[in-house]
Amino acid sequence: MKQDIERVLITRQEIDQRLDELAKQIYDDIIADSPSCPDNGTPIIPDITLVPILTGSIIFVADLIRRLPLKMQIRVMSVTSYPGTATSTKGASVEAALTRLPERLDGHHVLIIDDILDSGNTLKLVKEIIAKKNPATLRSCMLLRKQRPEALAEACEYIAFDIPDEFVIGYGLDYDDYYRNLPEICTLKPEVYENDL
Ligand code: 5GP
Ligand code: MG
Ligand code: MG
Repeated sequence: MKQDIERVLITRQEIDQRLDELAKQIYDDIIADSPSCPDNGTPIIPDITLVPILTGSIIFVADLIRRLPLKMQIRVMSVTSYPGTATSTKGASVEAALTRLPERLDGHHVLIIDDILDSGNTLKLVKEIIAKKNPATLRSCMLLRKQRPEALAEACEYIAFDIPDEFVIGYGLDYDDYYRNLPEICTLKPEVYENDL
């Protein structure tokens, strides 16, 4: 596996440090939004509903939620856009069999979690579907955002890292469903995928 890596873009230590900051920011925003108890002024913290997008967000969400001391439900969605050996988007579509969204989300504070904002198609689609279920608030949190106009144009409240417009793997992100278990975020040697292009 190591021999397929071109270079490490983001190290495990950088991820850990950034996740501490990001979790604090998310937590502080939720507290700031919470109504206060009329008797003693302490915030009444609402439950939150996390919507991780499978499969790429699995490592990110596992590490992020253990830094968030909040009462939360987890409702996964599965969206495919880079099937198999694709290294560019083929258009986002929901996999209903792996999606666990409730009928309605009235009163829920929803946070969408995904691995990477690239064309923005996935996030746009997920936001549309969730917005129709009428949540109280709807925010998004991405591990990575590529420096391309479509990604920068899509509204997203929390971004862990901005990266160059390159195909990356590791820390949940795959190539042909491999490499998700790499602890760091890396680029792949072109010879690994150029036969599939
Ligand atoms: P978008 O819909 O914004 O184009 O892309 C979102 C999805 O495409 C991501 O959730 C991810 O599954 C896949 N994707 C986009 N860019 C990359 C990349 O650089 N590496 C990998 N492994 N997947 C990517
Ligand atoms: Mg994805
Ligand atoms: Mg993928």
